[in-house]
Amino acid sequence: MPSFIYNGNIIEYSLTRNAKKNVNFRIKGDGTVCISAPKRISNKELQNMIKDKAEWIITNQNNIMQKQHNSIDKKITSGSYMILNGNKYIIRIISGKENSVYFHEKLLTIQIKEKYIFNQDYINRFFEKWIRETIYYLCNQLIDRYLIKLNKYHLKKPELSIRNMTSRWGSCIPANNKIIISKNLIYPPFKCLEYVVLHELSHLIEPNHSQKFYNIIAEIMPDWKERKKVLNEF
Ligand SMILES: [Zn+2]
Repeated sequence: MPSFIYNGNIIEYSLTRNAKKNVNFRIKGDGTVCISAPKRISNKELQNMIKDKAEWIITNQNNIMQKQHNSIDKKITSGSYMILNGNKYIIRIISGKENSVYFHEKLLTIQIKEKYIFNQDYINRFFEKWIRETIYYLCNQLIDRYLIKLNKYHLKKPELSIRNMTSRWGSCIPANNKIIISKNLIYPPFKCLEYVVLHELSHLIEPNHSQKFYNIIAEIMPDWKERKKVLNEF
């Protein structure tokens, strides 16, 4: 998929050429940008039009993904469900000495200090923090693991940031040696998180989605297409 970088955001798009008069931009439910353009418009003209439209694209992607994640991020209450790592869990909230999260079979137990047990806002914030810390911890380990596998490229360990990204799962700013991963990767199977971390790390070697870029990924993760598909469908 062709892409370009705008303000540190990697925007990927699909392009179809047709006989219509105008260039048309559409954002699909998964956040992908679909562009259809008349044949008479040159690639260079089109690139400029896409850049002019970048702000609009990012805003719309954010709106779409926000809507979707609002439905995932439901209230953290006893008896409600949540999908983590691709598995469905029933939430149970109990009170205890310390705040903690643990799993047992299909049960996700969130233990909250007694004085906050009826404070929904506090519970939400605690769980949100737990998600960010968990994703950070996992990503950090994955980065170390993949850096060893990518050692022939002599990469310096990038700065890692976890954000509530709503339109993308990750992004990379090669110039700052920085990768940004969406906290929402806590929901799909972790093999998707592995793919996104490797994808963003590979951008430190190859900023574009070139064949060379995908070759780097495939060398380490031969089943990356399958993982990407799972993520797109999530
Ligand atoms: Zn990419």
